[in-house]
Amino acid sequence: MNLADATARIEYLKQQINFHNHRYYVLDDPEVSDAEYDALMRELMELEGVYPDLVTPDSPTQRVGAAPSAGFESYAHRLPMLSLSNAFSEDELSAFDARVKRMLDLAPDAGVEYVAELKIDGLAMSLTYEDGTFIRGATRGDGYSGEDITSNLRTIRAIPTRLMLRDQGMKGSRDREEPELTLFPIAQLSSLNAQLLPDVIEVRGEVYLTLDEFQRINQQREETGEPVFANPRNAAAGSVRQLDPAITAKRRLDMFVYGIGFLAGADFSTHWDVLQTLRAWGFKVNPNIRRCAGMNDVLEYVHEWTEKRDTLNYDIDGIVVKVNSLALQDRLGFVARSPRWATAYKFAPTQATTVICDIIVQVGRTGALTPVADMEPVEVGGVTVSRATLHNEDEIRRKEIMIGDTVVIQRAGDVIPEVVRVIKEERKGGEKEFTMPTTCPVCGGTVERPEGEAVTRCVNIACPAQIKARIGHFASRTAMDIEGVGPAQVEQLVETGLVHDPGDLYALHVDQLLTLDRMGDKLAKKILAHIAGSKDATLPRLVYGLGIRHVGEHVAQVLAEHFGSLDAIQAATEDELSRAPEIGPVIAHSIADFFAEPRNCAVLDKLRAVGLTPTVQKREAAKGFDGKTFVFTGTLTQFKREEAEEKVRLLGGRAALSVSKKTDYVVAGEEAGSKLTKARELGVTVLSEDEFIGMLP
Ligand code: NAD
Repeated sequence: MNLADATARIEYLKQQINFHNHRYYVLDDPEVSDAEYDALMRELMELEGVYPDLVTPDSPTQRVGAAPSAGFESYAHRLPMLSLSNAFSEDELSAFDARVKRMLDLAPDAGVEYVAELKIDGLAMSLTYEDGTFIRGATRGDGYSGEDITSNLRTIRAIPTRLMLRDQGMKGSRDREEPELTLFPIAQLSSLNAQLLPDVIEVRGEVYLTLDEFQRINQQREETGEPVFANPRNAAAGSVRQLDPAITAKRRLDMFVYGIGFLAGADFSTHWDVLQTLRAWGFKVNPNIRRCAGMNDVLEYVHEWTEKRDTLNYDIDGIVVKVNSLALQDRLGFVARSPRWATAYKFAPTQATTVICDIIVQVGRTGALTPVADMEPVEVGGVTVSRATLHNEDEIRRKEIMIGDTVVIQRAGDVIPEVVRVIKEERKGGEKEFTMPTTCPVCGGTVERPEGEAVTRCVNIACPAQIKARIGHFASRTAMDIEGVGPAQVEQLVETGLVHDPGDLYALHVDQLLTLDRMGDKLAKKILAHIAGSKDATLPRLVYGLGIRHVGEHVAQVLAEHFGSLDAIQAATEDELSRAPEIGPVIAHSIADFFAEPRNCAVLDKLRAVGLTPTVQKREAAKGFDGKTFVFTGTLTQFKREEAEEKVRLLGGRAALSVSKKTDYVVAGEEAGSKLTKARELGVTVLSEDEFIGMLP
């Protein structure tokens, strides 16, 4: 390539990258995958390496992110928030190690101690604490100034509003069952203990969404006809940069911290110490960090997590490797946009190319018609996939997808695969345009797409697809929890005409069940017992199980607690419904609509007739306890365990015995053990006994 060609190519790449930066950082709506973006960036870096005179200060290789958007106050970082250099292969990681040693004048076979961390695919944030109190939170922006989003960050439970006192924090950290911490020398712990809280500290970390939460948000958006988020990172970005903190609060964002920026009034010697102390101060530090004696250990960590990344409930896009000694970090310093003492190993993209054989349309519980790509099976990230959701008609138009197209698909973590883009060059002319059916593909009934909504719906509530989905939802684990009534049974029960609505489940008898495939006498009786047992389900479960549009588990809980019985909810006017806590006009309207439908009322009558009339004692729920699940572990000093659990229940919360993803708080007393470890692994908020007492009204 001659100089003129290189100049033109560099200009083109700069323009492209700047365009994608704007879409990614400002609009939270990228057009290309990260791998495609990385390829552009890499080409630009390589060209600039060959032609250093063509490097300009405004080149994307010299800068980080994008300027803060106008909607927020801008916040100037005390120390710039930079990016990281990348390593796209193990060889490049080894080259990083060799470079570090060269710059530190170490022998090539010397071992540098590193800390290996998961690279969380979220958004970089800076949190400032003065005298232990959270005072400012900002996005990275262009690295020099970001957006002040303090009010939004205050809604994230993983961000402590006050730093914990060291003794309390350290109790948790001494947990014998925490594998990473048993490696931590006691002598070092006590020296940390002696440290004062810093006068000013700026903590840095990544705000992200769990995959569960991402799916919940998208499901809700699909139902309300709003455009879905492309991936958890975009959803997190769109949620944390909301002008209304109330919206941010509803999105249940999370945060892992991974380092500090500005610091006054405290001192550390290693990055590992920093992380341990941040954890002790009450921050959420990823439990999977590891100290590595050299690059070989780092590579082992890389192998391990390349295998295991799908087991996490959040997306990671690589491994970050940092020199552990802060003195060595100082000696290594920075280049234009990244430190020399760290690098990010990026996982190979979990993308693949395949052909869309057909686009089929599925009908869901609320009648929503969802187009799904039926693809030639292909392996992506170790899993064979043949289906990908196309969300709705607009998505298909936006991505210009046709039946017969060759497409790039991608899997992110556990999320259902998605079509990233069409390879138009592969078109042969026989591709067919997709048209949304004008009648329901299952019942042939009318479909409607309300103005301003992206979702087309079948309006026939007797549509078999909807019936199956509704009964499946009613029986599901989070609703009435009827064991033995899964998708396969529901399919047959509806197809054979035995069940038309949830009420019919309670009229089933053994002989009828015996007509189903693979059904024996013993199993049939068991299923009937489970069905009968579900009559004891609580009111929130029943309300949720009805499958009213916009009424998820939480809203069902709120309705149950506010109205106390199904009769009272049914009798409420739309106006009364919208005066209930957390119930907006859209939800109120949807509930009123549901009860205005005589066929729904007939189902409710059937349910009542078999004895499903749960009630809850109306009470004033206490802030912070309403519907929240607490798990107590370790020895409490100021309560008996049962007393504490009873308090939680009286205040509207739930006391559970084991820690799961559903747990909101783990209250850790002295000598807390495996439950605390599990809480950390799952990222559940951990409270000390004093903090729990502080929450009590
Ligand atoms: P980066 O994401 O490659 O790495 C730096 C960032 O990693 C840090 O700022 C921090 O936010 C994050 N991080 C996560 N876990 C960390 C940990 N444990 N320790 C330290 N940092 C951690 O760099 P970047 O400058 O933030 O973004 C560039 C990347 O963003 C690109 O490589 C691409 O993947 C993506 N991008 C995509 C598009 C697109 O259009 N698809 C556009 C712009 C950027």
